[in-house]
Amino acid sequence: MRIQLLDEQTAAKIAAGEVVVDPSAVVKELVENAIDAKATAITINIEDGGKSKIEVTDNGLGIDFEDVELAFARHGTSKIQTMEDLDQLETLGFRGEALASIAAVSRVRVKTSSRKDGLGTMYSHRGNHQEKEAIAWARGTSILVEDLFYNTPARLKHLKKSNDENRKIIRMVQVLSMSHPEISFGLFLDGSSYMKTPGRGDLLLVLQSVFGNQQVGRWMEATYENEPLQLNGYLGSPYETKRNRDHQFIFINNRYISETRFNKAIEDAYGSMLMINQHPVFVLNIHLPSHMLDVNIHPAKTKVQVHNESLFLLLLKDGIRQILRSNLDAKKVEGM
Ligand code: ADP
Ligand code: MG
Repeated sequence: MRIQLLDEQTAAKIAAGEVVVDPSAVVKELVENAIDAKATAITINIEDGGKSKIEVTDNGLGIDFEDVELAFARHGTSKIQTMEDLDQLETLGFRGEALASIAAVSRVRVKTSSRKDGLGTMYSHRGNHQEKEAIAWARGTSILVEDLFYNTPARLKHLKKSNDENRKIIRMVQVLSMSHPEISFGLFLDGSSYMKTPGRGDLLLVLQSVFGNQQVGRWMEATYENEPLQLNGYLGSPYETKRNRDHQFIFINNRYISETRFNKAIEDAYGSMLMINQHPVFVLNIHLPSHMLDVNIHPAKTKVQVHNESLFLLLLKDGIRQILRSNLDAKKVEGM
């Protein structure tokens, strides 16, 4: 076979496979764009596990009428201009890939306004058809994604049942809301409200919205410092555990991390207080000097490499043990 260049649509669909692996990835990209646009309230509407509809609405800066097509172009971004800008990146996005990728594998419609006068733009991007018109719209952006993977049957086939896709979306929104307590998040599943955070900048209020007042009321506040490690967050009691790790959340320097080794180190600190096959609940922010970390720059990756990991894990375990000890001792004194 001779070498030839892929046509634009095929190339876009292939590239989309990197970013848009499932509905929760779409939610992540759209919400991160809303955060980058300085939204203070973000509403997420999901139908059929995101397979038929994902809609994210924000009250952020909006997109100018002239710029809407560019937002959907591959490498179209307002966030960086040169490689040097990456060194002081203050946004979650910068690749200009997400909207282009999402539009390559679904039907998208955006309503947006960057103005105060109520004048906005509607733009729809469906396969080869694009339409744009001026509409009345308050400042902010609403992006509707329908029929995800309608034109990529191999991907469509791999989508799970709505409940399973919902579970991934819920966790994604939980993570995003915990890392942004200053933003109010609302999540609706098939028309009914699943969670809503107040956006008042207090992690405890977010956790109460996510897990319920009653549960969170019994958690221990975790603050600990032992150079170079700093911990803060909330730890559940060793006597109120779960059968899986769905209620464990670890952030390193405000970035959500999924590294089971870290979860295990924390569980080790609970030690014999835990019953077999039971997992404690926790939300833990770990702070480390950035020179001790290698964070994979790919936005979807939740992996991290800590230099001298075994020492780090020992410090972590020690820190958690101390937090548990001081809290549980205090409770004994109170007669628990
Ligand atoms: P990136 O986030 O990497 O810049 P995206 O494809 O996610 O790339 O978005 C492209 C551009 O569209 C962004 O740089 C931004 O200018 C604009 N944009 C996307 N979503 C929003 C939003 N919710 N509010 C305002 N602007 C947005
Ligand atoms: Mg983005």
